[in-house]
Amino acid sequence: MYRAPRGTLDILPEDQPYWRHVTERAHAIAALYGYEYIDTPIFEETSLFVRGVGEGTDIVDKEMYSFQDKGGDHLTLRPEFTAGVMRAYLEHGMRTRPQPVKLYSLGPIFRHEKPQAGRYRQFWQFNVEAIGEMDPALDVEVMSVAWHLYEDLGFSGLSFHINSTGDPRCRPRYIEALVAYYRPYLHLLDEDDRRRLARNPLRLLDSKSPAAQPIIEGAPKITDYLCDECTQHFARVRRYLDALGRPYVVNHRLVRGLDYYTKTVFEVYAEGIGAQNAVCGGGRYDGLIEALGGPPTPGIGFATGIERIILAMKERGIAVPGLPKPTAFFAPLGEESKVVALRLITELRAAGVRALLGFGDRSLKAQLRAADRAGATYAVILGEDELAAGQATLRHMAQGTQQNIPLAGLVAFLRDSEATR
Ligand code: AMP
Repeated sequence: MYRAPRGTLDILPEDQPYWRHVTERAHAIAALYGYEYIDTPIFEETSLFVRGVGEGTDIVDKEMYSFQDKGGDHLTLRPEFTAGVMRAYLEHGMRTRPQPVKLYSLGPIFRHEKPQAGRYRQFWQFNVEAIGEMDPALDVEVMSVAWHLYEDLGFSGLSFHINSTGDPRCRPRYIEALVAYYRPYLHLLDEDDRRRLARNPLRLLDSKSPAAQPIIEGAPKITDYLCDECTQHFARVRRYLDALGRPYVVNHRLVRGLDYYTKTVFEVYAEGIGAQNAVCGGGRYDGLIEALGGPPTPGIGFATGIERIILAMKERGIAVPGLPKPTAFFAPLGEESKVVALRLITELRAAGVRALLGFGDRSLKAQLRAADRAGATYAVILGEDELAAGQATLRHMAQGTQQNIPLAGLVAFLRDSEATR
């Protein structure tokens, strides 16, 4: 028996109401804030991600689905949206448009991670980017899109974790202090942390290794090392969050390991969702477009995982609207009746009325059971007697009541009944 590849999910029909609801709300809220939808390819040149996500990150070092295609091109299934969206921004000259250019995407992402609950190798992200503007009010707007989505979906107890990760002017001094602080603890670090110390010291701060936790607690804080510009920016972000009454904590461990991630970093947490599982992470990347070969262009964005949102919704019993049920289920008894049923169903569907046919020449009882399972409002019973009289027996499934309706008036009756539901 074949099985879906490890770390991938079939999204079965019974799960689709969640997917439809969450993605529809994401589209609606992005539009509310003036973000426009952009689709980029699922694969890009490998080097785009190596530069855009960055060497030394887990994603680039360990997790990319990279391959050479039959023409010899080096390609990678996108492990995040940002690099592709920035490529599109540059390729299509979007910097001549009014800035900021506000874009969002929805779609599958691929990372070769170790699968576990809520962690997959193919998963969906809702990704939001605002490019070409430094104003800290934009940081707060982007953060608000994430907040709004979770609130709209029914999560409570929301809070932000925020930090500033500085910029290339002030960060090196902080990294120096961090490395100096870690030196005496070298013998306590595991192999991963030693590698971080050598290659990407900022990442030491989000190490999950138990032995590292007390060390991180005492580590110097980047906010004590920020230059004036970064300090001001961070103060204004907090001021706007205060003004909006959005709770936040300054989390000194929240960092991004790469040079072109600058200033604001944030995560969103919701009540009852494990501390390890921020539903959303984002921040500024004022150096990214330059790193991809473009002119200096600021930007900020976030991404959130759809599967994790849906898991969390189910855990807290948040219901979503179901798919619409059929208005009519036709139960023909005999070949002649089936021909009539086919014609009527075709007419009903053309009129936009949801109608189903009972297949397989089954007994009336079996067809009524099928009508019930389908959740139909009415069963339309078409036997020989009914045909001879030019009418159908209409059974209201929930009430168990029956009435006769002339075939000529059936389509109008069912259309009106669907319209008033
Ligand atoms: P990141 O791009 O790593 O900052 O992740 C952004 C969001 O994507 C996370 O907050 C999660 O909601 C989601 N996410 C990241 N990795 C996975 C994964 N392997 N499986 C499912 N969701 C993920």
